[in-house]
Amino acid sequence: MTLVPLRDDPAGEQSARSRAAAAPAWTHDWAGKGRCAKADPDALFVQGKEQRLAKVVCRGCPVVAECLADALDNRTPFGVWGGMTERERRALLRTRPDVTNWTALIQAVRAGGDGSLDTITQRVG
Ligand code: SF4
Repeated sequence: MTLVPLRDDPAGEQSARSRAAAAPAWTHDWAGKGRCAKADPDALFVQGKEQRLAKVVCRGCPVVAECLADALDNRTPFGVWGGMTERERRALLRTRPDVTNWTALIQAVRAGGDGSLDTITQRVG
């Protein structure tokens, strides 16, 4: 699948270069910097409907891109990581068998967009 822009920049005010410059730097030691770092670790390893609530923790997490990329690259089998349940990650992996380096792909997507989870998942799926 090809990466496509989410939408045109109707005002033409923000070039791809300026968006890239505005994107936050990739955080390699992200694990302790997430919104869940001080939460109950078991809260993200729930099942069923509780996963929807667990995913709320990931909304607005400053390292959601890094966390999701890590979970996808490592085929993390359980839990909510990067705002996605294991089922959602498996579906994404099935959709994109061509991707061998999720970190590189998600870094590129974030550099060209706003870095939100919605943007990332729309553009990589
Ligand atoms: S995206 Fe979610 S699971 Fe990952 S570090 Fe942030 S809060 Fe924790």
